[in-house]
Amino acid sequence: MSAAESSRVVHEADVCVVGAGAGGAVVAAELAEGGARVVLLEQGPRHDIDKFSARPPEMLGRLYRDGGQTATLGSPPILLPLGRGLGGTTLVNSGTCFRTPPAVLERWAGEFGLDVDEATLAPCFERVEKALSVAEVTPELAGANALVARRGAERLGWSHGYLRRNARGCVGSGVCVFGCPTSAKQHTGITYVPRAQAAGAQVLTGADVRKVRVDRGRAHAVEGRLPGGRRLEVRAPRVVIACGTIHTPLLLQRSRIRDASGQRGRNLSLHPATAAFALMDEVVDMARGVPQSFYVDEFASEGMMFEGVAGPPAYAAMALPLTGAAHARAMSRYRHLAQFGLMVSDSSRGHLHVLGSRPVIRYSLSREDLAKFRAGLERLRQLFQAAGAREVYLPLPAGVTPASACADDLKLMAFHPLGTARADARASHGVTDGDLAVHGVEGLYIADGSVVPSALGVNPQLTIMALATRLAFHLLDREPPGGASRPARDRRDGSAQADGKPRTQELTCPS
Ligand SMILES: Cc1cc2nc3c(=O)[nH]c(=O)nc-3n(C[C@H](O)[C@H](O)[C@H](O)COP(=O)(O)OP(=O)(O)OC[C@H]3O[C@@H](n4cnc5c(N)ncnc54)[C@H](O)[C@@H]3O)c2cc1C
Repeated sequence: MSAAESSRVVHEADVCVVGAGAGGAVVAAELAEGGARVVLLEQGPRHDIDKFSARPPEMLGRLYRDGGQTATLGSPPILLPLGRGLGGTTLVNSGTCFRTPPAVLERWAGEFGLDVDEATLAPCFERVEKALSVAEVTPELAGANALVARRGAERLGWSHGYLRRNARGCVGSGVCVFGCPTSAKQHTGITYVPRAQAAGAQVLTGADVRKVRVDRGRAHAVEGRLPGGRRLEVRAPRVVIACGTIHTPLLLQRSRIRDASGQRGRNLSLHPATAAFALMDEVVDMARGVPQSFYVDEFASEGMMFEGVAGPPAYAAMALPLTGAAHARAMSRYRHLAQFGLMVSDSSRGHLHVLGSRPVIRYSLSREDLAKFRAGLERLRQLFQAAGAREVYLPLPAGVTPASACADDLKLMAFHPLGTARADARASHGVTDGDLAVHGVEGLYIADGSVVPSALGVNPQLTIMALATRLAFHLLDREPPGGASRPARDRRDGSAQADGKPRTQELTCPS
């Protein structure tokens, strides 16, 4: 064994946060600013914005886990790209920001016993939205691709609007999901992570966490590897896991954390998506402007949400559902191509297991969700036709219509995996409780998409960040500024005070 391999790096902290994506970066910054000593560990790198080339194939390899080739097994197989690095998947996302729909929160309270509602979460949402400069896209920035959808929706009388996004000074480079080359997108790697560092948090990249150590029912350290094979140990009385929906259950399993609910790795919802192209008379130049800037929510109550999607020619060539001469002909008219996406709020549920150290993700589309895709594709066609499309290219094999499509005919991707360590007040039903504390383990919490107990029907980053904000303030025993005052929670470690007054000392590491 080399000297580098045998060396061990040891840190001490009040809280160790694992994963610097939507959930982890937020929790780390809020805790550090609240006075806690925080160590934030991220497996991926700090990406260098000077290397953001806006070229899709190149950036896919650089910014995405396994080059964006994570996929599910099932019918149909679904590509499930994940980000990796400071910012996690927020670095490569489209920037769309939705609060959790109130009906979903009501369901969480009723079905999973979670103590959340619109009013109590509002201060957390406000805080996140301010931190990320969330604002509605202007029609000028939205570009001509959005105009096509808008025209179609207006002619059909369908409910629609411009999306809210986390961006500042956006110039519409058109490549949000391939790394914003102007840093306009306010992902957590350039917002919350620097805030955490400024407040004294230690941020380690290339830190691959292998295990959370638990003794006598209490988490007290994490172990991992640093670049060069050095062993890493962070001793902390509180550990927050935020590795994302696919990797958090794996870390729990590797750490041999008891799962009394049997729910770890289960309940995976994906919000599966597809998209259609249309050939327009006008010049669209779909990559000029914000790719995801416009939505049509006329059928949201039926589980179908339509949102913009677009990209430069190298992207369109990969995504266009045509082959051979038809593909070449359509690509030669790239400037006239428009694209729009469909996402289905799924009732299908998948599950994860581990093969070697890799996740195997099983997910098959239910009949109910297949029906939503059939109806949704027909509506995409209607939308484009109403907008005046010359031709519509649906993502189906030649000769297959939406009505006759079976699951394996669909060309699906998914961007919003959730639920594999779901929160439920009952230890027999969920991996964490409503406060995101892992059932049965003191000092261990989860703050990422895995705790979200049901499909949302909308893009999830704000939900994850708001829940992470709420967790941080619970750990600090404070209310988020602007929040309605209510007594600090009766926590299982008995640290809440009877009078409900803030107790800011409690995060100090025991000597
Ligand atoms: C192309 C694309 C577009 C999207 N667009 C939108 C959008 O417009 N709006 C929206 O709301 N959502 C969008 N999403 C989804 C959104 O970005 C994610 O839901 C969100 O980032 C998930 O947050 P998370 O904290 O669960 O995980 P992540 O943000 O994925 O962060 C997890 C982090 O943990 C790290 N990690 C994993 N394992 C370990 C380990 N063992 N040790 C250390 N670190 C580890 C990972 O490297 C990663 O950085 C999009 C996703 C994609 C892929």
